[in-house]
Amino acid sequence: MTSTADKLRFEPTALPAALDTLRAEVRAFLKDALVGVPEVKRSHSWEAYDAEFSAKLGAKGWLGMTLPKQYGGHGRTALERYVVVEECLVAGAPTAFHWVADRQSGPLVVRYGTEEQKKEIVPAITAGKACFAIGMSEPNSGSDLASLRTRAERTATGWKVNGTKIWTSNAHRANYMIALFRTDPDPTKKHAGLSQFLIDLSKTKGITPRPIQNLAGGRNFNEVAFVDAELPPDALLGTEGQGWRQVTEELAFERSGPERYLSCFYLLRKLIDAVKETAAPATLARLGSQVAWAATLRTMSLSIAAKLNAGQDPALEASVVKDLGCQFEQALPGLAQELCELEPTLEGHGSDYQQVLGALVQVAPSFSLRGGTPEILRGIIAKGMGVR
Ligand SMILES: Cc1cc2nc3c(=O)[nH]c(=O)nc-3n(C[C@H](O)[C@H](O)[C@H](O)COP(=O)(O)OP(=O)(O)OC[C@H]3O[C@@H](n4cnc5c(N)ncnc54)[C@H](O)[C@@H]3O)c2cc1C
Repeated sequence: MTSTADKLRFEPTALPAALDTLRAEVRAFLKDALVGVPEVKRSHSWEAYDAEFSAKLGAKGWLGMTLPKQYGGHGRTALERYVVVEECLVAGAPTAFHWVADRQSGPLVVRYGTEEQKKEIVPAITAGKACFAIGMSEPNSGSDLASLRTRAERTATGWKVNGTKIWTSNAHRANYMIALFRTDPDPTKKHAGLSQFLIDLSKTKGITPRPIQNLAGGRNFNEVAFVDAELPPDALLGTEGQGWRQVTEELAFERSGPERYLSCFYLLRKLIDAVKETAAPATLARLGSQVAWAATLRTMSLSIAAKLNAGQDPALEASVVKDLGCQFEQALPGLAQELCELEPTLEGHGSDYQQVLGALVQVAPSFSLRGGTPEILRGIIAKGMGVR
């Protein structure tokens, strides 16, 4: 009989020694590519957008790594991709342009797209030339995503879409969006009435993104209005009515990566540099426990990468790491402020360290919202373990 604890397993995973060479190559590339990138921009991590950098990473063969060769991917392992992603995050590389495409849209298109879509999109992702947006959340439908109301109706020529998405990161500059719409308005078919669509934003009229300024002054996300937006018949991604199942798979990719505990890592490195020579033993002990926390999260996160590599579903373990990872990241700015006794400042004021701290103090509250809130994740974990 399977016990509750057996349902949640983090098998220890060691990265093959052969990946050390790849890691050294990526590290050397990043050292050169990031010369002159301001410290505060590095702390923006996977929210910093730089199309040129993404194209350079693509030219090195480090995007679309796990996508099949027959469509223009590299056919490499999830562990190889993990090494590249980890190095980019730790160095504070600006990865926002390709982030969603490489992490979730590419695998989704490979799984559910038509042959034409795969042939068009996979090479663009691999080259670092395709920016994707995720059209899930709506006003009044965030955690309760299945209550969303944006409607896609069949027409003689394809689909007509009306409604509003919100918090759509990079929609104002993305090439494509994968969105979840209601295709069956029957209220008894809450989940079964949803379908996913692949939208070429450059070719579709009737879609208007309006940037929303976040607390830190950034304009990464948007409210997106769909007014009689006409989509071709093959914009339907996968099967009509199977959108909920597909989106659940997509969220497993979205929640399973090391970015769920590494978005503030740049600050931890700066903090260690700032205090390591002069810190009192008590300070070092607190830093040590933070580093141990990071090491534990890394062990768990690597185990998820191994599951992905083996073609298994890591949704349950990914929810645990995302929840614990957010707690780790959200504790860091406070600790950094306390141990250095420096005030955080706004961009352009104070030392580099103060600006990095200031940026992260402002954005850290969003870490536990994006990709699912703690309450929702804990509900998934409880359900997955059979205790709810
Ligand atoms: C930086 C950032 C980027 C984002 N990018 C995207 C994007 O690109 N695309 C996209 O589609 N969305 C995006 N989002 C939206 C994100 O997925 C939602 O914010 C998130 O799912 C929560 O939804 P909500 O904001 O509507 O909050 P709500 O669902 O209204 O939740 C508010 C609070 O109520 C709690 N709550 C809600 N329901 C329950 C329940 N049943 N039981 C217990 N507690 C509950 C929540 O945990 C939360 O604390 C982004 C968000 C952020 C912060």
